[in-house]
Amino acid sequence: MDVYGLIGNPVGHSLSPPLHEAGYEERGLDARYVTFEPAPADLETALTGAAALGVSGLNVTIPFKQDALEFVEADALAARIGAVNTVDFAPTHESGFDSVTDPDAPAPRGYNTDAAGVTRALAYHDVPLADADAVVVGAGGAGRAAAFALADAGAEVHVANRTVERAEELAADVPAATGGGLDTLATEVPAADVLVNATSVGMEADETPVPADLLHPDLAVLDAVYAPIETRLLRDAADAGATTVDGAWMLLFQGVEAFEIWTGEEAPVEAMNEALRNRL
Ligand code: NAP
Repeated sequence: MDVYGLIGNPVGHSLSPPLHEAGYEERGLDARYVTFEPAPADLETALTGAAALGVSGLNVTIPFKQDALEFVEADALAARIGAVNTVDFAPTHESGFDSVTDPDAPAPRGYNTDAAGVTRALAYHDVPLADADAVVVGAGGAGRAAAFALADAGAEVHVANRTVERAEELAADVPAATGGGLDTLATEVPAADVLVNATSVGMEADETPVPADLLHPDLAVLDAVYAPIETRLLRDAADAGATTVDGAWMLLFQGVEAFEIWTGEEAPVEAMNEALRNRL
């Protein structure tokens, strides 16, 4: 039996176990997905121990995503984003590994599948990204993944963030991107094709980081927030006639991408989506 899992702290309410186990069941794989909650100081021990125990793969979440870079051979995208959310301890198949240093490097290999979570969620909803004007609100972990993913897919990216310096730093790292404060949304969103909310605004309270009057019918809006599933931003976007993509799609496709890296098989997207939405 193959063992996969998630390390983070806390991981109690994770939706990843049902998401991945639905995939194993659908594909007839003898595998389980479990959660681990090491103390924040024990990341290296946890990764070394997982490798020694024969764990096949781990997803990595808060607070370990950035620190995990130090203990794996990261692929080029994860290194640029500065965070790893998927570790492959036993790469036995061709997974398109794109190392920054040594492509033949041994396991464990680190990836960032939040980036694919953004682009695959948008592609699934037929949102074109090549030559699109994209606005990313937020410059934390999800914002960095979204900005690199959209730029790599051919979009021109503007990053707007509450802390202006973080937006400017991220924009300097991403090809052809610009950055600014939340006030820049007023000029950028009306001309945009794609808007990604990568802030946590909308989780705790029924609030939105983007004024409703900036939204329009030619816009596709992806909200990374998935609890609640229908955020105020998505309600406003629907009212404005925009295409809406909720955060569960991003969550689904980051998991789908990890499943495919680990198993080398095409993930059963519909079965995994159904399992996820049954838990939301
Ligand atoms: P993070 O690294 O802590 O970044 C948080 C971001 O939110 C920062 O840009 C921060 O701005 C901004 N922010 C926080 N409170 C704000 C406020 N009141 N007004 C304006 N901006 C505010 O968090 P993260 O890991 O990127 O996660 C961000 C969100 O994405 C969370 O809701 C998370 O659940 C979600 N997420 C979803 C997925 C998925 O698969 N659907 C994956 C990853 C993350 P400052 O820089 O100014 O502090």
